[in-house]
Amino acid sequence: MRLDIIAFGAHPDDVELFAGGTLAKMASLGYSTGIVDMSRGELGTRGNPETRREEAGRAAEILKVQVRENLGFSDGEMTVTPEARLKIIKILRKYRPPIVLTHYWDDRHPDHVNTSRLVTEAVHHSGLAKIDTGQHRYRPPTILYFKVPSYIVPTFIVDVSDFVERRNAAIQAYRSQLYNPSSTEPMTRLSHPEFLANVETVHSYYGTLIGKRAGEAFHLKGIMEVHDLVSQFTVRDTD
Ligand SMILES: [Zn+2]
Repeated sequence: MRLDIIAFGAHPDDVELFAGGTLAKMASLGYSTGIVDMSRGELGTRGNPETRREEAGRAAEILKVQVRENLGFSDGEMTVTPEARLKIIKILRKYRPPIVLTHYWDDRHPDHVNTSRLVTEAVHHSGLAKIDTGQHRYRPPTILYFKVPSYIVPTFIVDVSDFVERRNAAIQAYRSQLYNPSSTEPMTRLSHPEFLANVETVHSYYGTLIGKRAGEAFHLKGIMEVHDLVSQFTVRDTD
């Protein structure tokens, strides 16, 4: 099975938070999408891996993601090793996606940083014939980085105005991680009552930059190539 887009996140819920609207939109346009979680989030203060696995499955259904895999790397201890890279190469060669999404490399969470580096290296090495996995070599042509830092101007913004509700539903699937006044578990950044409102603000801000209700920002290394000026720059009026 070939996928058009695979998004790699360090922990279950990372992809939903920063590219969930984009994946939902791409699925609605008929493209096949997948999410690969690097870890089970077992170090998370709230919930447990089993709960998070169920939540991740529900979120994938909501976003109409066709494939969701978990590589089982250690949460909090993700390191850049040839073995870890090889696991990602096997995924890339299995699904052969032309587009890969992953974390921007400058991030406060070390797992996000290492996921970014691992995926970037794997995308390159997946094209090398001498790295033998018993599969055909394949190098995805495009990596798009999400969770762009505030000091970086995004390369482009995807209009996700029509997918705000679906993205929010996918995020809300992670009940164990979010604000719940009756929970006795310790408070985290995610479970703070302000968290979802802040996420919403970021998406509204990116939407505002392109004159839309909501947007998701991506960074591309290098210069973006355009093939068809008309399809690229004709603004589709969604009103
Ligand atoms: Zn994370």
